[in-house]
Amino acid sequence: MTRPRVFVATFLQPSARAVVEAACEVDHYEGPGRIPRDELASALPEYDGLLTANLIPIPNELIDACPRLRVISNNGVGYDNVDVPHATVKGVLVCNTPGVLTAAVADLAYGFIIDLARGITRADRFVRERRWGKEPFVLGTDLRGKTLGILGLGRIGTAVAERAPTFGLNVIYYDPVRNHSAEDRGVAIYRERDEVIREADFLTVHVYLDPTTHQHIGARDFDSMKPGAYFINTSRGLVVNQRDLVEALKSNRIAGAALDVFEIEPADPTDELLDQPNVILAPHIGTATHETRLAMSELAARNVVAALTGGTPEAMVNPEALRAGRSMA
Ligand code: NAD
Repeated sequence: MTRPRVFVATFLQPSARAVVEAACEVDHYEGPGRIPRDELASALPEYDGLLTANLIPIPNELIDACPRLRVISNNGVGYDNVDVPHATVKGVLVCNTPGVLTAAVADLAYGFIIDLARGITRADRFVRERRWGKEPFVLGTDLRGKTLGILGLGRIGTAVAERAPTFGLNVIYYDPVRNHSAEDRGVAIYRERDEVIREADFLTVHVYLDPTTHQHIGARDFDSMKPGAYFINTSRGLVVNQRDLVEALKSNRIAGAALDVFEIEPADPTDELLDQPNVILAPHIGTATHETRLAMSELAARNVVAALTGGTPEAMVNPEALRAGRSMA
């Protein structure tokens, strides 16, 4: 029996490589950096499965040009690199890696919250720049008794809310889909979107990126935040209007921000966002721990193998694509 062919366009941990190679014929992109679009476009029509990452766009024309393709397995929870309704119509299953990365991203969000409140990054600069003893260190703020506003109480938003009691934060949230389970457990209190933005001392964003959330946070929202409030984004850069955020930071309309994600990644070196003193920046490291990256790699590998060998992948974005036929092994 011929084995399904899988193209791996992203880095895979050795144990995950072994999982795919045990069941499929596999070719890997071995080049430096991200695979060029034309290289992916010319290779992919030969394959039944693609194991890739969210930063690699899969345009509709590419799906159309690959009649063999049955599954796109993303090594990540986000899937905004694929037009999922289009993939579904074409019978291409999209898989992702939810769950295994939730804690790592929630922990990073807290790293940002504590850093913004206590100025850890600022303190590091203060010591290195030999300013200690020559000028006072500007005081931070306590977390206890402050309000944490969460936009998007899904998996990661909920994990962030669950950590709040340790720090004495009160949690309010907005999500168009009410999270009754979290509310019943006393994890977070529901408020209208404008109220969350207005009342938060720390506003943290955990929505997915889709056409409804694209740049849905902008000048009007920053204008209605408390002057001393902080903005945290570990979701997707494109859910925020980054120009408006820079203006809010430059004018000290908000006290500061912490960002793991950007409109363009890697961040544009000429972007004045990178020069603002009141923002903490990270190069999309929400999942960047050994344990989490390993778990993601292995789940993405199991997903692609299951989709191509008659099993049921553990994490499917569009299980209805299975009914469209192509993804049946
Ligand atoms: P999820 O799908 O479980 O949760 C997203 C929530 O946002 C859902 O409950 C949804 O109803 C809600 N939502 C949708 N539109 C909204 C709106 N307009 N306002 C408020 N809420 C809205 O997703 P998740 O697994 O918790 O991931 C959250 C985000 O984190 C995603 O954008 C994902 O891509 C991102 N992420 C980033 C990293 C990183 O490395 N920084 C890692 C993993 C995930």
